[in-house]
Amino acid sequence: MLRMKRILASIGILAILFAYSGMVFAAEGAGISADEALARLIDGNKRFVEGKQAQQDIGDARRTELAKGQHPFAVILSCSDSRVPPEHIFDQGLGDIFVVRVAGNIADPIELGSIEYAVEHLGSPLILVLGHQMCGAVKATVDGGRPEGNIGSIVKKIAPSVKKAKAQVKEKDKLLDAAILENTKNTAAALTQKSAIIKHLVEEKKVKIAAGVYNMTTGKVEMIETAAEEKGHAAHEHEHVHAHSDAEQHSHAGH
Ligand SMILES: [Zn+2]
Repeated sequence: MLRMKRILASIGILAILFAYSGMVFAAEGAGISADEALARLIDGNKRFVEGKQAQQDIGDARRTELAKGQHPFAVILSCSDSRVPPEHIFDQGLGDIFVVRVAGNIADPIELGSIEYAVEHLGSPLILVLGHQMCGAVKATVDGGRPEGNIGSIVKKIAPSVKKAKAQVKEKDKLLDAAILENTKNTAAALTQKSAIIKHLVEEKKVKIAAGVYNMTTGKVEMIETAAEEKGHAAHEHEHVHAHSDAEQHSHAGH
């Protein structure tokens, strides 16, 4: 009898251990790296551009499986624009991507909180900030004037990016695209500037931040360098020039 109790106790401990390891796996999320996650998005976008979308599993089996828990492999912060739905343009199915959408793809506390939840509790290894051509929110900011109601809060948030773009671009017809690019980069930078949780996970190399701009006519997402990457490259080039000679600088001239 005692022997039986011991066996039962052992089984109990094993069950607890299994349950615990299950929890640990859950925290690890999608089980792929940030680079793999980005490659998966780029591949999906390629299929979308070519009109060769994969048959995504959105049936009841997948739905039932996901009811037990979600492990999205990427977080996407994009604009609410009806022409830029991330699930379509990256050709992903149920439970694949955690999407935060807001006009002008800006990052205020509510958007940051949503992203923090995904990276910290669901274990998503990648955050992609997605801007897009012809963004109405950025255009309203470029056009100026006083927007009605709460739209003013969005415009106010985008204004510093437009100011920065104006300082870089003199041609009026290029200002909107430059402002869209700047706004996307600024949002990507804000993720670590305004969220201690994201900053910590990025520093621990558990999360990567990428940025891209969606081309409205081709459907392609053009990946862009985030400010952090630019800074990293600049520092690297600086070291490079110091370590070698100024003669090598020409190789970066077209960059
Ligand atoms: Zn937009």
